[in-house]
Amino acid sequence: MAEGVLVIAEVADGKLNPLTAEMIAAGQRIVGEVGGIVNVAIFGSNAETLAPEAVAAGGDLVYTFAEAQLDEYLTDTYVPAAEMAISVADPAIVLIGQTSNGRDLAPRLAFRLGAGVVMDVTEFSISGGQVSWTRPCYGGNARAVLAVNTPLQIATIRSKSFDPLPADTGRAGDTIPMESGIDAGAVKQKLVSRETAQAEGIRLEDAPVVVAGGRGLGGPEGFKPLEDLANVMGGAVGASRAACDLGWYPPSQQIGLTGKTVSPDLYIAVAISGASQHWAGMANSKNIVAINKDPDSTMVKNARYAIIDDYKNALPALIDEVKKLKG
Ligand SMILES: Cc1cc2nc3c(=O)[nH]c(=O)nc-3n(C[C@H](O)[C@H](O)[C@H](O)COP(=O)(O)OP(=O)(O)OC[C@H]3O[C@@H](n4cnc5c(N)ncnc54)[C@H](O)[C@@H]3O)c2cc1C
Repeated sequence: MAEGVLVIAEVADGKLNPLTAEMIAAGQRIVGEVGGIVNVAIFGSNAETLAPEAVAAGGDLVYTFAEAQLDEYLTDTYVPAAEMAISVADPAIVLIGQTSNGRDLAPRLAFRLGAGVVMDVTEFSISGGQVSWTRPCYGGNARAVLAVNTPLQIATIRSKSFDPLPADTGRAGDTIPMESGIDAGAVKQKLVSRETAQAEGIRLEDAPVVVAGGRGLGGPEGFKPLEDLANVMGGAVGASRAACDLGWYPPSQQIGLTGKTVSPDLYIAVAISGASQHWAGMANSKNIVAINKDPDSTMVKNARYAIIDDYKNALPALIDEVKKLKG
């Protein structure tokens, strides 16, 4: 009988993405209540090297698909490989990252396997063996709680929604090398080239602190003090769509409904009004600080703390104080 959890690992540039450990931790919480083990499937040439990390993060049994054809995400290769992993692990629940890959993979798998799928999960609760999945809806303004009644459930997990378990390198776990059995003739897609946007420092999605700027900055030069603040706080800089559309900051750093989703410990919104489409990308931040001239702006009203001032006054003072605190 299907039981336990299968986590489809997120691998980027040959490394496990931090979201993998977060999903494994969520998986351990689930199996702690409903039984079974946490299986992990890792795809790509490095799979075997990465397996001990998945075990240290809480994986009980790791299936490695060490195939070069799985180094890059292609729908045509990942869907059959994930299907193979599901057929051998036989889980009740599959956890997949809410990333561009996972957003493509999860619904396709669900359709093929007749499974219910819940996208963009940020929390769950378990009662009487039934998992209730919580996901933001209406652009982050409300939360939907969903239960799935198919024997196989698939959920995509939003980054930074669950804390990883402390890595335990002494943990025991088994690794089983697998073959995906992909039919090469059925692979119609080809990756022609890959361009990586140049982003310095920490990735926006992984940053514990995000300093984001909006149209109120008045121009691209307005981002300079935000970068200074992010630097002293070990964070990353994001932007509203208005600022990106004006060409003030790279679109890769846009946060919101049509941009990236972030859930940092601290989100500092500088000269951003707080439109619902912006909230959709940062509503899950653990602490929100607004810096805005307008005390009635949505961002100020919904933030935990606010500085009501011109950012040109507020930011240098804030940077000085943080520098003093950091010694
Ligand atoms: C389909 C759709 C998708 C969208 N997707 C996104 C998305 O992904 N991300 C996103 O961000 N938006 C998105 N938008 C746009 C969104 O609706 C807003 O237009 C946008 O977020 C506004 O950006 P902003 O807050 O930077 O600018 P504004 O709304 O113009 O706000 C500027 C703020 O700066 C403050 N300000 C001005 N000068 C100063 C100063 N000197 N010091 C301090 N504060 C100052 C003002 O008081 C104001 O609150 C989307 C819209 C649509 C229709």
